[in-house]
Amino acid sequence: MQTQENLKIYNSLSRSKETFKSIHEGRVGMYVCGPTVYSDVHLGNCRTFTSFDLIYRYLTHLGYKVRYVRNITDVGHLENDEEMTGEDKITKKARIEQLEPMEIVQRYTKGFHNVMAQLNNHPPSIEPSATGHIIEQIEMVQQILDNGYAYERNGSVYFKTVQFAEKHEEYGQISGKKLEDLRVETRDLKAQSEKDHPADFAIWMNANESHIMRWNSPWGVGFPGWHLECSAMSTKYLGEHFDIHGGGMDLQFPHHENEVAQNIGCCGTAPANYWMHTNMLTFEGTKMSKSLGNSILPDELFTGEHELLSQAYSPMTLRFFFLRTHYRSVCDFSDKGLKDAEKGFQKLMAANKTLQEMEYIGKEKVNDEDKVINGLIDEMSIHMNDDFNTPRVLATMFELVAKINAFKNRQLKINHISKATLERLQTTFKAFIEDIFGLQAEEANNDEVLDSVLQVLIEMRKEARVNKDWAMSDKIRDELMAAGIQLKDGKEGTSWSLV
Ligand code: AMP
Ligand code: ZN
Repeated sequence: MQTQENLKIYNSLSRSKETFKSIHEGRVGMYVCGPTVYSDVHLGNCRTFTSFDLIYRYLTHLGYKVRYVRNITDVGHLENDEEMTGEDKITKKARIEQLEPMEIVQRYTKGFHNVMAQLNNHPPSIEPSATGHIIEQIEMVQQILDNGYAYERNGSVYFKTVQFAEKHEEYGQISGKKLEDLRVETRDLKAQSEKDHPADFAIWMNANESHIMRWNSPWGVGFPGWHLECSAMSTKYLGEHFDIHGGGMDLQFPHHENEVAQNIGCCGTAPANYWMHTNMLTFEGTKMSKSLGNSILPDELFTGEHELLSQAYSPMTLRFFFLRTHYRSVCDFSDKGLKDAEKGFQKLMAANKTLQEMEYIGKEKVNDEDKVINGLIDEMSIHMNDDFNTPRVLATMFELVAKINAFKNRQLKINHISKATLERLQTTFKAFIEDIFGLQAEEANNDEVLDSVLQVLIEMRKEARVNKDWAMSDKIRDELMAAGIQLKDGKEGTSWSLV
């Protein structure tokens, strides 16, 4: 069932699910737009990178040798993305904090890597940075100029967007943007006054003295436009034509449209066969974003130190929370959603532990239960092959969890299924949980252990009181008090607190 032929991927280019076929047999080239390292990544960024980690893991599981390239944006991303105006995000942060831009870049790159490791996201095969590829970007600008798709103005180089879109139907295919929309674009932006058309975008920008990050180029001292780095680095490491390009949906326009334009303008070919876009993590219906001030950081979630959170949630709970929603659907962040995810995650992991420890003691015979379980195992792959439908895979897995728990509670006998079926269930669960979903068992933390021990003592004291064994009941209470734990009896039962 888990063969490479069955995988369907939703392609933003055709707006439909297509059977995935790689350019080179058995190999996949995948490029994903990485973070701009001027601040900590928030949970929205984490959702996108975890979604692509899942895709990377599944392709690898199917037997593909995947070259996964995810860049680090450390120059060229200006404050106003769409208009490409304002200060460079890294430079601004460096100025405010009185640090070298490279100090900002290193600090937040390190922070990003830590969060990715906490979430058990695999590192990409190659992680190139924009500042490390200035030469490649200058060469690309030159080639685009030579091919007649750009013009130079006062030390900056602009891409001729409208002229390009008139010739190439590829422009607008990802975002649905129409040529007419570009033509009527009349926004009067001061910084763009030197452009022939407001829709033209900078691929190289002239830098004045105040710019810290700048390089020599044939057009004077400057820096590359934000969209250019991804075209230059994907071409360098994956070639002019590769399999999958991904990013969040908010990058469809202008970033990805402009990437396609640059690649065609430079190399004559669109870069990727499949464009994949993840939907947004929202908070009360609004996209989680740093600029909107509604972002929550992974650390705030893992420590519980945030006004919206009733408790701390572990990295694996967050990962499970993401998996419960399909990557192309909006995922709304809520304390309640995370609480449910925590329960679900623990239930799944407990059932898997039971399953892996199960030993077969029955006879070799196939019957109805056998067929049901094999059917459910098949379904897991069918859903995963259906554009990585993780919520449906999980729903099927929980049907199997009910079976596993029924075996455990002896409502179902293990010899109702064949040995082969039990082994298949064990290997499939292990592969999905560990290799594909990247979920790891978590040690219960000390607070949880303390609470479970105290619940046992509270229960014993209750029993002592029912038996009118006041001596024992007082002993438990007094000795706990001496150890710094106070028991309080109330309507709802007995609770404890540290004194
Ligand atoms: P940035 O560092 O802003 O370039 O973003 C890095 C990645 O995170 C991009 O692929 C964005 O599309 C993605 N992203 C940003 N905000 C969200 C969000 N609220 N939900 C999901 N992905 C997001
Ligand atoms: Zn990009």
